[in-house]
Amino acid sequence: MSNCAIVGINWGDEGKGRMVDLLTRDYDVVVRYQGGGNAGHTVINEKGKFALHLLPSGIFRGGVVNVLGNGVAVDCESLWNELQDVIAQGVSITPENLKISDRASLLLPWHRDLDSLEEARLADKKYGSTKQGIAPFYSDKYQKKTVMAGELLYPEKLWEHLEGILEWKNLTLEKVYGAKPYTMADLRAWVADFGEKIRPFVCDTGAFLRQAQAEKKSILFEAQLGSLRDLDYGIYPYTTSSNAIAAYAPVGSGLPSVRLDEIVGVVKAYSSCVGEGPFTCEWFGPEAEKLREAGNEYGAKTGRPRRVGPIDIVATRYGVQCQGATNIALTKLDVLSYMDKIPVCARYELAGRQTDDFPFPAVLPDAKPVVEYLDGWQCDISGVRRWEDLPQAARRYVEYVEKEIGCRIGYVSVGPERDSIIIR
Ligand code: GDP
Repeated sequence: MSNCAIVGINWGDEGKGRMVDLLTRDYDVVVRYQGGGNAGHTVINEKGKFALHLLPSGIFRGGVVNVLGNGVAVDCESLWNELQDVIAQGVSITPENLKISDRASLLLPWHRDLDSLEEARLADKKYGSTKQGIAPFYSDKYQKKTVMAGELLYPEKLWEHLEGILEWKNLTLEKVYGAKPYTMADLRAWVADFGEKIRPFVCDTGAFLRQAQAEKKSILFEAQLGSLRDLDYGIYPYTTSSNAIAAYAPVGSGLPSVRLDEIVGVVKAYSSCVGEGPFTCEWFGPEAEKLREAGNEYGAKTGRPRRVGPIDIVATRYGVQCQGATNIALTKLDVLSYMDKIPVCARYELAGRQTDDFPFPAVLPDAKPVVEYLDGWQCDISGVRRWEDLPQAARRYVEYVEKEIGCRIGYVSVGPERDSIIIR
């Protein structure tokens, strides 16, 4: 059976959760391979409406095993709260269908504090962090100054390890930020409150995945955020602190030698972006307000209004290349139905000339969008399920995007529900 990664092509919030929820019917295992609880995947299915932050989106399918891979920032506290919320909505979550890698590092209570303290210090130069502690967590992971989830299974080793890290971390908290230090009693209470709760889910997921591979099970790899927020290839420093691209899926999942057969890139039919950083195609004023309302563009985690604009062909083509996408899911086409002309950011103008190439991050803020218009369709397409039933102008729009970004669009989503999809 095939292995497939589902990844975001743009700035995140493209509808990845919705696509994973749809495609899990064909897969046995779903693995989240990077990121933390700082983003939200909205999923609507027969069980209800859910905002997932850390849980893989395969959690709703009976028989699917969900894995949080070693590349994920495991925040025991928010994970436990999320589990409680989803279980309360009638979803069964047990160590049988949720497995947390023993090699995943733990996001500790001070990571969230440090995120807020640093954003406050930066004041008007802030990065627009969601303040979930992700950047301090990954810095510490790479400095080897946090603990692995598997250490919860060996409490004596855990206490000894945490004691050493605590001493070092308090230096930063007190001397750099003038903040309150932590004590071992604080950490023991935190482990008792949250670490103990997630401990039953922790296991050697690498061994589980190798076994699944040997049994020819099909595995779906799920990313958080999009290409343009990737630490190495995105709009640094307005990126996330891990690699969201498909190339990282083998490393962050626990199957470092796996070959991906398919990479489904999720592209929104227009652009949206949460937080700070250059966003070339951005709209302001009533035009933006109308699109934001039509697309309900408010953050699933934070409720923050998202920045919006027309589809950005330059950024999307670059995102497709970064991901090595083999198939595209174009989402939210229905949202554009109110427009009589559909604007597209076809090229950028930079340093007095037009370009198709995505600029280096430092000069990206100088780029200006070159906007062109395609015909709109101005009718409700949310009930359409067959390509040939889409209005001609809508088909032309999809074909235009497909040609310009250089990748086949195999799925067109026309609504948030599981079955609001056109498979080409
Ligand atoms: P993710 O983080 O990439 O999973 O995306 P989000 O969940 O943050 O944002 C996508 C939003 O769009 C969610 O509220 C989805 O329910 C919604 N959505 C996804 N696909 C469609 C679609 O085709 N049409 C409409 N109207 N909404 C969609």
